[in-house]
Amino acid sequence: MASKKIVVVFGATGAQGGAVVRALLQNSSFAVRAVTRNLDGNGAQELKKLKVEVVKGDTDDKEGLKKILSGAFGCFLVTNYFDHLDMNREIQQGKNVADACKEAGIKHLVFSGLENTQGSGAAGPVYHFDGKAKIEEYIEEIGVSYTSTRTTSYNENFLTFFLPRKTAENKYVLSLPMGNKLLYLMAVNDVGHWVVEILKDPLKYKGKKLHLAGDKLTLDQVCAILSKHLKPKQFEYVPITVEDFAKLPFPGAEELAYMFHFYQLKADNFRDVAFTKKLYPKTQSFDAWVQGNKDKLIQALK
Ligand code: NAP
Repeated sequence: MASKKIVVVFGATGAQGGAVVRALLQNSSFAVRAVTRNLDGNGAQELKKLKVEVVKGDTDDKEGLKKILSGAFGCFLVTNYFDHLDMNREIQQGKNVADACKEAGIKHLVFSGLENTQGSGAAGPVYHFDGKAKIEEYIEEIGVSYTSTRTTSYNENFLTFFLPRKTAENKYVLSLPMGNKLLYLMAVNDVGHWVVEILKDPLKYKGKKLHLAGDKLTLDQVCAILSKHLKPKQFEYVPITVEDFAKLPFPGAEELAYMFHFYQLKADNFRDVAFTKKLYPKTQSFDAWVQGNKDKLIQALK
């Protein structure tokens, strides 16, 4: 029997990387090497239960990364800007992993990238996009075979950051700065399946930036879907302006306001839902995701 191809997964204890680990485990051609900074943490313990190789690693530690990548076929990299809110640090972390991939002779790197927003007309800088665009450029420059998975807002944000606000018994208001433009959405678990499709045929996707999403909806449509599945709860979209959102009292509000403005400007073709469904036909619509996550949503809305 041919030996399995090892894929090193960064962010394995998190949303995107965790999805990649689960999807790789469903494919008998691949073996997972999951990376975490904390081998004693709950995330690492959960991964060990899946009988996955778990190794300690930190994208800030350039030297340590070489050993982690040695002998591997592929790598999935997601960098986490929100860990430190420092664009230059995120760029350096991405470069460290890209350099280590090159030195280790990795056959294909899938990077969770995003585009540059500078010059787009967005009302201000969106550092967590711009840093990832710089990492994409660097990977290209050093000649590592790669694909960028440019994704979009997780449906799971409706359980936390986009959670509708209760205004009366069974009445909820969703307030985001999207006007009546389309918001592109995805179930974060689908990232795993998209990445596996890419790693199954790296030559097909080599050098490409894939614009991935499971759905595109106005927030009125989002509210209609939530109201349909979560009866008797009813949801209404009440837009907020980019300027007012930027003033909200939480860290990063200003940058997220600019991100929503960028989403608005790109709403006609931010992501390619039809292509995404061709890549992985079981990619979930928002409607299907809500249906499958009713209990979690009801719990979060309490
Ligand atoms: P997450 O669930 O918060 O998990 C973060 C992961 O990154 C953890 O597994 C953590 O591992 C790992 N990590 C953080 N710093 C690390 C370091 N220095 N070295 C090694 N591992 C490190 O994050 P996520 O949602 O999967 O990904 C976050 C990224 O997704 C952000 O950069 C954001 O821009 C992007 N994104 C988010 C959305 C959205 O809607 N939320 C949409 C598109 C893109 P340990 O703690 O175990 O070490």
